[in-house]
Amino acid sequence: EAPAEEARKPGFLGRLLGRTGEEAPRRVLDDAMLESLEELLIASDMGVDTALRVTANLAEGRMGRKLSVPEIKALLAAEIARIMEPVARPMPLYAKRPQVVLVVGVNGSGKTTTIGKLASQFRAAGKTVVIAAGDTFRAAAVEQLKVWGERAGVPVLTAPEGSDPASLAFDAMTKAQEDGADLLMIDTAGRLQNRADLMEELAKIVRVIRKKAPDAPHNTLLVLDATTGQNALSQVEIFSKIADVSGLVMTKLDGTAKGGVLVALADKFGLPIHAIGVGEQIDDLAPFDPEEFARALVG
Ligand code: GDP
Repeated sequence: EAPAEEARKPGFLGRLLGRTGEEAPRRVLDDAMLESLEELLIASDMGVDTALRVTANLAEGRMGRKLSVPEIKALLAAEIARIMEPVARPMPLYAKRPQVVLVVGVNGSGKTTTIGKLASQFRAAGKTVVIAAGDTFRAAAVEQLKVWGERAGVPVLTAPEGSDPASLAFDAMTKAQEDGADLLMIDTAGRLQNRADLMEELAKIVRVIRKKAPDAPHNTLLVLDATTGQNALSQVEIFSKIADVSGLVMTKLDGTAKGGVLVALADKFGLPIHAIGVGEQIDDLAPFDPEEFARALVG
């Protein structure tokens, strides 16, 4: 049985099945084999329900067949890609100006970094962007966002430490409208310890920006950290209750975590995955590619 850490790394299937070259023996797809596959998928953070569904689909019409390791891998990757394809969608952009993008997630998930990367991508696409440093209680987060704003060539609106994020959001909305900016990205606090407060804070930000644009925010991105594994599932549940989450960004997929939990997320919530974080640099944000992801996960 593979230890959990091992199973999170790419290529776990190859290690289970042993040699993967031409000379590798064929394996009979039997109950024992399916059980091993299930265990590995579960250990890769896919969750029990999703792992069972993937192996059941794989087994359908194939029990007792002799399959080569590459065949098993390809079938498994195809099943995973099938679950992921419907959620692999870039963040939708509407004709509205400014497009308001509210960014939520727990502290440390990569919100600030992701906002910087997105701002840079939008700038490169010729769009004008304004950022609001809405986590007014974390001075370090505000400083960090300013650095990202400079890198991306985007103005960052800040407010005094501890001041009302909603009033900053209102000012930012005013500035974005006056400037005719294409996008306004609003960072938010991620203190889940006090959920009621956070809920109130986010609700107030939304109320205030709607005074200026009734259909805003146009996107509410939830940023998740791939290294937290199954924790991502409860974060989606919690944030969906306190904000109208419209899409996900999964960060830190450049490490050893290959984000098996993304399959569970796709299967359970069906929220679009707009992008993935693959490093700490400004260009390290990539579109989510289901086939590449499935291949990397299976190994
Ligand atoms: P926030 O508290 O949610 O705003 O999180 P930050 O944006 O400050 O990110 C927390 C840490 O994670 C920082 O050290 C970032 O450099 C790092 N980080 C963010 N995204 C990625 C990523 O995609 N890959 C890696 N390796 N590190 C990341």
